[in-house]
Amino acid sequence: MSKIKTKELHIEKVATSRIHDVDFNDLVFGKTFTDHMFECDYKDGAWQNPTIKPYGPMMMSPAAKVFHYGQAVFEGMKAYKDDTDNVFLFRPDQNIERINKSSKRMAIPEFPEDVFLDALHTLVAMDKDWIQKGEGNSLYLRPFAIATEVGVSASPSNEYKFMILMAPVQAYYKGAVKVLIAEKFSRSAAGGVGAAKAAGNYGAQFYPTSLAQEKGFQQIIWTDSNEHKYLEEAGTMNVFFRINDTLITAPVSDRILDGVTRKSILEMAKHNGIAIEIRKLSVDELIAAKKQGSLKEIFGAGTAAVVSFISHFGYKDIVYELPEIQNSYAVSLKKQLMDLQYNKTKDPFGWRVEVK
Ligand SMILES: *Cc1c(COP(=O)(O)O)cnc(C)c1O
Repeated sequence: MSKIKTKELHIEKVATSRIHDVDFNDLVFGKTFTDHMFECDYKDGAWQNPTIKPYGPMMMSPAAKVFHYGQAVFEGMKAYKDDTDNVFLFRPDQNIERINKSSKRMAIPEFPEDVFLDALHTLVAMDKDWIQKGEGNSLYLRPFAIATEVGVSASPSNEYKFMILMAPVQAYYKGAVKVLIAEKFSRSAAGGVGAAKAAGNYGAQFYPTSLAQEKGFQQIIWTDSNEHKYLEEAGTMNVFFRINDTLITAPVSDRILDGVTRKSILEMAKHNGIAIEIRKLSVDELIAAKKQGSLKEIFGAGTAAVVSFISHFGYKDIVYELPEIQNSYAVSLKKQLMDLQYNKTKDPFGWRVEVK
């Protein structure tokens, strides 16, 4: 259970904002951070001293356990601004619930939901001038928790830090993505930590992804680790396949991250009357559908890019092309989701949360 000793948020403001040093038309994703960050320590069996303070480097022992055993989890979410400067979060309850699930799997103490939401709202409101208006612009929010106890003995840490950083990001459209279907490497395994947003899941996929990049692909679609037979997810995005007019995606499992974008797309598609199947899809079925002409679209879904269009997929040295189509589900679902996030449409789902 998550215990907290002192709930009041302590706030230390910057003397002068750095905002005027930033070129908002030339941002590299996740490199520029706002004036403030949130920090809360876990010590003596309880979270304590939730604090908002100036963003900056911190001192840590090189023997802190996170550096040796990778006890680290994170989240990715965004804050959006509408045309009249109102600020919104998108389903923040889902992110705190998920980081706590990830933490549990990594033996990190859970963080109190109310303290998280209070800190997040306060932090976003303090630095809201860093959110640019305009479709696609947003503030990327990065909550994370790390093991800070000093000592290289292989056991769970008794001390942690829970932090939130915020980075202004621009709309980015890098074009459609070429993906390679995994035949050898795995991102996660049954019983493992694939369903947790654990830092190490990313570290483990950089090498196979770099090999795929040498072959001209940007990302990998991971398959099940036992047989490499079923399509799972892209490692930063969940994946959707449209065969005829049915939208298919893999069921979440202990190998697949339960994406907020994935579940939102599923509910939106249902709302639109699109047929949905949440089931295993084999690589063989995908290729057969491509050969018959019934495979119409593949796209990824995740907070960073919302929806990523996939133009090609590679498997066993063959590259299959997916030409652009009329009435694309990806295009229409992306627009509907972004219109909802940017307060351009009604929100029948109750997903949008205003920051005041
Ligand atoms: C974060 C993440 C996603 C996307 O999740 P969203 O909640 O939609 O951003 C998909 N797969 C993995 C492995 C992830 O870490």
